[in-house]
Amino acid sequence: MNRYDYHRPTTLTEALARKAETKDARFIAGGTDLMVRIRGKDVVTPALISLRSIPEIAGVSLDGGACIGAATTIGDLVRHEGLGARYPALAQAARRIGSQQIRNAGTIGGNVCNASPCADTALPLLVHEARVGLASAGGKREIPIADLFCGPRATCLKADEIMTHVLLPAPSPKAKAVFLKKGRVMMDLSVASVAVLLELNGDTCVKARVAAGSVGPTPLRLKDAEAILEGKRITDDLLTKACEAAMRGVSPITDVRSTAEYRRHIVGVFLKRAVLGLLGRETA
Ligand SMILES: Cc1cc2nc3c(=O)[nH]c(=O)nc-3n(C[C@H](O)[C@H](O)[C@H](O)COP(=O)(O)OP(=O)(O)OC[C@H]3O[C@@H](n4cnc5c(N)ncnc54)[C@H](O)[C@@H]3O)c2cc1C
Repeated sequence: MNRYDYHRPTTLTEALARKAETKDARFIAGGTDLMVRIRGKDVVTPALISLRSIPEIAGVSLDGGACIGAATTIGDLVRHEGLGARYPALAQAARRIGSQQIRNAGTIGGNVCNASPCADTALPLLVHEARVGLASAGGKREIPIADLFCGPRATCLKADEIMTHVLLPAPSPKAKAVFLKKGRVMMDLSVASVAVLLELNGDTCVKARVAAGSVGPTPLRLKDAEAILEGKRITDDLLTKACEAAMRGVSPITDVRSTAEYRRHIVGVFLKRAVLGLLGRETA
């Protein structure tokens, strides 16, 4: 492994100043993705700037919605009282990430900024239409999470930008959401995963949001499936059409974890299971 300097700033301003001093330095949070890439010589850097000792970008606050600091660990999401009740799909996704050790080190910011198609927290954040806060020496901005991902392991973040927080809007009292993940074994990256948010008026779907992971170059929103469900009473026939649209809307690959065909199949199965579950009907 190459040698590198290690900085541990305690404020955002200091972290940004360190980055300005060393152009090719990399930000590191829990290191559970980045250290693997450094060890594999996939990433070479002269310096690491740790984001783990900056209190202003850690922690969860709930008001109408939720503001989650980017350096909040996945374990803290799981343990937070109140977050899971308001955003169950996010808590379900967090609980399915890695092992206890990985959850205690890995952060939500790292999960999202690593931009893997299988990033588990990305799916609930997509269906809740979260926004992410970014800060650089040039100022602050906020963008929809959907605009963050631009390719496998690629985000639209500028090299000197730090993700500071994730903002989740207050869920409608009529909204319900769920996250489903298929791994080869219980503790595994997903073969395929789906998150669904439905706002229901009886059996009528007022709003549908569907996202899928490990079935395209980035975590995906499946808007065709959403459009089929929205504004209609959810019948078996309608749900079949939505599942077919979801399966058409993904572009999975075959790799060591699964075949493309199986991944596509799981998307249809999970969308059906999620919708029936949220409707309180018998699941397939
Ligand atoms: C054994 C193992 C099992 C795993 N299982 C899962 C799993 O089941 N599901 C899953 O989704 N992931 C899994 N992962 C991947 C990883 O643990 C998560 O993605 C984790 O949330 C990454 O967070 P981190 O803080 O460790 O990121 P880091 O490794 O510190 O950083 C990842 C990337 O994001 C950048 N970054 C981090 N924070 C910020 C920020 N605030 N602003 C700007 N850039 C930032 C870094 O520069 C780096 O490029 C697993 C990893 C391992 C090693």
